[in-house]
Amino acid sequence: MPELPEVETVCQSLKKIAINQQIQTIIIRQYSLRWPINPKLEKILANITIKNIYRRAKYILIDCYIGCLIIHLGMSGKISILSKQSINYNIITKHDHYDIILNNNIIIRYNDPRRFGAMLWTEDDPSRHNLLINLGIEPFDPKFNAKYLFNKAKKTLSPVKQFIMNNKIVVGVGNIYANEALFEACINPASLAKNINLNQLNYLVKAIKKILKIAIAQGGTTLKDFFDPNGTPGYFVQSLKVYGRTNQPCLTCRAHISQIKLGQRSTFFCEFCQPITA
Ligand SMILES: [Zn+2]
Repeated sequence: MPELPEVETVCQSLKKIAINQQIQTIIIRQYSLRWPINPKLEKILANITIKNIYRRAKYILIDCYIGCLIIHLGMSGKISILSKQSINYNIITKHDHYDIILNNNIIIRYNDPRRFGAMLWTEDDPSRHNLLINLGIEPFDPKFNAKYLFNKAKKTLSPVKQFIMNNKIVVGVGNIYANEALFEACINPASLAKNINLNQLNYLVKAIKKILKIAIAQGGTTLKDFFDPNGTPGYFVQSLKVYGRTNQPCLTCRAHISQIKLGQRSTFFCEFCQPITA
């Protein structure tokens, strides 16, 4: 599933090629994604200019002055950037659901085998859209700090891992990143969020920002292949210190990494480096 760093990578690539460009046309081959694509969209988007492209949580927002496209990659969505000159431009595969064709001969192609992705159009403030209005803070927002988490944690009974994975608290901390950040901050994933002190939360916030930044930087390295439609932009392998390393030696103390389930999600930790905070 595309995570925040992948979406950020896609967003940065789209920015480079699409801002201030006009949409020539949009070709929709499959209207039924997670929510049906507005059948009037082809008409609405023809000849309008892209003002800005930005990310909110895992949504890609394409601001077109008169309205905004809200794109989500769902479980298996993938955006490729092609040029009309590229040999693969005419090869449409089964799950290529739509093309946004720009005046500069660039094609933004959306492929999604499982069709849980979305492309919605709003003429209102997108931050007020149903899908976005309840989202928590962005992880790179300076206001996402220890104090912020401390105040939110007071009101919850959930384990810290589920707490930081809750989109209403902070967006974009997927399972892998939560595991890795808690290891980095020496916090046991099962500790109750309300028991974690300000100092520990400070380490945790720093770890979350650092791990997401590294993931985005690694995603960026795939950009040179971005015009290759067979390449998978933004998908990368992060060097994982704890995730998926059950029974392997902890990279800090050599003890065996433990695995449990927390909220049905695989959870990995070192019981010596990450003692329970009571
Ligand atoms: Zn350890």
